[in-house]
Amino acid sequence: MNNMHTGNALAGEPVPNREELLQQVLASDDLPTLPTVASKLVSLTSREETTLAEVAAVVSQDVALCTKILKVANSAFYSFPQQIGSISQAISMLGTNAVQSLVLSFSFMSMNKIAPGSHFDFDKFIERSLIHASMAKLIMQKLSREDAEEVFVAGLLQNLGELVLACALPERYDRVLEAVAGDPENTCAVEASMLGADHCFIGYEIAKHWNFPTIITLPILQHHDPREYVGEDEKTGQYIRAIYLSNLLVNVLCSETPELFHARFQEEAEKLLGLSRSDIQSILETAHTEVDEAAANFGLEMENTRPVQEILQEANIRLSVLNLDYEQVNKQLIRAKIDLENLTRELREKNDILKQMADMDGLTGVYNNRFFQQALDKEMSRAIRQGEPMALVLADIDHFKRFNDDHGHLVGDFVIAEFCRVLTAHIREYDTLARYGGEEFVIVLPQTTREQAIIVAEKLRRAVEKAAFIDKGESYSVTASFGVAALVGTDEVIPANQELIKMADEALYDAKGKGRNRVAAYGSKKKWFTRK
Ligand code: GH3
Ligand code: MG
Ligand code: MG
Repeated sequence: MNNMHTGNALAGEPVPNREELLQQVLASDDLPTLPTVASKLVSLTSREETTLAEVAAVVSQDVALCTKILKVANSAFYSFPQQIGSISQAISMLGTNAVQSLVLSFSFMSMNKIAPGSHFDFDKFIERSLIHASMAKLIMQKLSREDAEEVFVAGLLQNLGELVLACALPERYDRVLEAVAGDPENTCAVEASMLGADHCFIGYEIAKHWNFPTIITLPILQHHDPREYVGEDEKTGQYIRAIYLSNLLVNVLCSETPELFHARFQEEAEKLLGLSRSDIQSILETAHTEVDEAAANFGLEMENTRPVQEILQEANIRLSVLNLDYEQVNKQLIRAKIDLENLTRELREKNDILKQMADMDGLTGVYNNRFFQQALDKEMSRAIRQGEPMALVLADIDHFKRFNDDHGHLVGDFVIAEFCRVLTAHIREYDTLARYGGEEFVIVLPQTTREQAIIVAEKLRRAVEKAAFIDKGESYSVTASFGVAALVGTDEVIPANQELIKMADEALYDAKGKGRNRVAAYGSKKKWFTRK
């Protein structure tokens, strides 16, 4: 094919034909060379009668390479039970194909001859090549484990032509990159029209020049159109198709339109390689972990690859937004904002309820002891600070043990809850009623003197005495005893709050001792307590 004088030719420069271009590339001083070990290995394995020992001898020449290979051989990826200490051991455990694939891959990744200032991103290129290779391997594994290693190399080298062109003709390839930007699907056509041949052809010729076997070189040439392969060799045909499919898969992972490539991959994988639905599914599910593992093996620091499912979900959302007009998007955003606000409010309300529940007693619905202790702290310091009185009343149901014995614990529970309702009905809103424990309750009365507290307690006592608690048609009644202690604001000695509770408790004890169903107040010589 002669592309001389094509429209896209660089000003003043005629476009060579592909043979001429190849000669220019081969003559370039900057043509990347395959490292010696890799090159020797390629020619060695192209012979039929190669022995393991020969392969081991060649690989062992490069100490740095051996270290890298042994590191992978001993990685979690292969997870052999024993340590692999030498290349010959690695070859016998992993197989010649796998070791050869590692040698070639490491060699390929170490070829860096990019001209300074070139727009060709070598690191990105290596990253992409590795993703291609691991996807080709993943696909091939569904057909044959052995061949998967070889396909890995072919997958890695499929875009060798791009690297070669960027190294040998940096300026011209820069212009190609510029022209291709934003339309990567057209790379081959642009290369052919601007340079004279595409990277597939150049890569193929260079790999041939390096003595790679046709099973590697042909996939490099035909990876963009597997249907062009008319050769008889079934394995070569399979490799070409696997590499073509790996491209679709890479585009699911990395392109702007993953959903299109996803559909094409599924369709073509079935048509070209006869893969089953479950094979295709498993490829899609493991693609991201496969890439991450390969990156770890070859020591590449790459961003973690996302699972295909997640990529497709995101694309789906993006598409659904794209399909709406501005008005609709706006409406949906407003709806989403309202929903979010509602959700936040509900959450806040639920949180408040939860917080309240943590302060409440389950049986009676009044505050629990923990909350009472906090409330007492707060009320006492306020009373003291403001020089106001405050009082504490302890209430204990009389002979409640006997009540339980007579009527059962369940009726006892019912009465305790009803008892609280009676107390609640007779105190002020800012008084705090809490369950002190068992059948004992406590009321914090802010701004209340001892005398006023005694009146309150007496009112409560009478209300309890009069109350009839009716459960399942049966009427029950109880009495309770009350102990009052009060604090009068003063700047003299202040009792600790536990002391105030103790005083109320002593008064309660008095009330019990004097026959129950009565109110007693703590009397003290201390000045800040009113006397009885
Ligand atoms: P006193 O007049 O001296 O207070 O006698 P009492 O029997 O009420 O006092 P005591 O402290 O000896 O016993 C308290 C009883 O209260 C024992 C216990 O079974 C009962 N009680 C405590 N908490 C609950 C409860 O949550 N439900 C029920 N049903 N009974 C309870
Ligand atoms: Mg009691
Ligand atoms: Mg008690």
